[in-house]
Amino acid sequence: MEQAFFLADAELQEALAGLSAQADVWVPASDARKPGLVRFRRFQPGLTVRLDARSLVSAKEVLFPRSETLLRFTKEKDLSVPAGHRIHLDDARTVRPVVVFGCRPCDARGFLTFDPVFTKGPYRDPYYSERREKTTFVSLVCRDADAACFCSAVGSGPADPEGSDAQLIPVDGGYVLRPVTERGAALLEPIGRTAAPEQIREAQDVLDQVGRETVGEGSLTTLAEAFRARFQDPAFWHAHIDKCLSCGLCTFVCPTCYCFTITDEARGLNGERIRSWDACMFPHFTLEASGHNPRPSKVERYRNRVGHKFSYFPARYGQVACCGCGRCVRHCPVSVDIRAVVRDLPAQEEAHA
Ligand code: SF4
Ligand code: SF4
Repeated sequence: MEQAFFLADAELQEALAGLSAQADVWVPASDARKPGLVRFRRFQPGLTVRLDARSLVSAKEVLFPRSETLLRFTKEKDLSVPAGHRIHLDDARTVRPVVVFGCRPCDARGFLTFDPVFTKGPYRDPYYSERREKTTFVSLVCRDADAACFCSAVGSGPADPEGSDAQLIPVDGGYVLRPVTERGAALLEPIGRTAAPEQIREAQDVLDQVGRETVGEGSLTTLAEAFRARFQDPAFWHAHIDKCLSCGLCTFVCPTCYCFTITDEARGLNGERIRSWDACMFPHFTLEASGHNPRPSKVERYRNRVGHKFSYFPARYGQVACCGCGRCVRHCPVSVDIRAVVRDLPAQEEAHA
């Protein structure tokens, strides 16, 4: 560990307040009304920061808000053309630097699924891309994986630095802050003091120990072919998904799900174009204007969810679209377990280890 800083527990609020002067700082936090509900909130002094708890919804809502105004429009009547009108557009983008502080490694890695879709190619999304370029991720090395987590099974792990600009490593009395990228180093220098040699040793021991841990069984990264073989096997999909309620919760909490819908909301001659989260698990998501729906039942919809994450996305981008955070497993009201579905994809005789 070449460069490292130390931040004492007691200095956390002050450090976050310092960072807030230059950026919007988002941290896992709870409030007094619902102390058990941890989600990412914009830091302000006195906020109950919960680095000890996993957030219900991932950090994706920081860069990809549940609902955001893309542009505002004003219509103007042109009396020289009575049947028409002019439309003035006002781009609603305002992008400040952002720090996501204390997310888990799986959350930081989740954005690696967004990046190729939203930042590259002919359909680059300027809203996500500009936020992404100005965001620094400080992830917490994870020492409390639960029974729903399976980050190692999708090629990651509880100390994975991929997608993070810096790592927070819990040590006695606070955290050792380890830069991963130059952006991370620039962020950390003003908020921590240089770590003492014994603190660096302790942090390295934590990194080594956590880095050896395997969270989740086997590997779920090479099942694209097995998915294709199961595609036309209704009995398989019914067996796994008949209990699904089509509530969409699994997609909303997921750090790698990015379906959205766009609506125009107008009042008189003024209005806004708004993008909001949508979900492929909803029956109306693929309903066409003709009344035809290519995914009319939950079997087709869940098959698409599994196929997108473990077959179509890997075929296009070379990586599975799941970071193993376990949220969909942990929070599904009827206990649909995507790990079980994916593990069962291969026929029995060729099941993966
Ligand atoms: S959370 Fe569970 S019940 Fe709800 S849509 Fe997802 S799989 Fe179905
Ligand atoms: S599919 Fe489930 S485990 Fe995978 S990233 Fe989404 S919520 Fe997490």
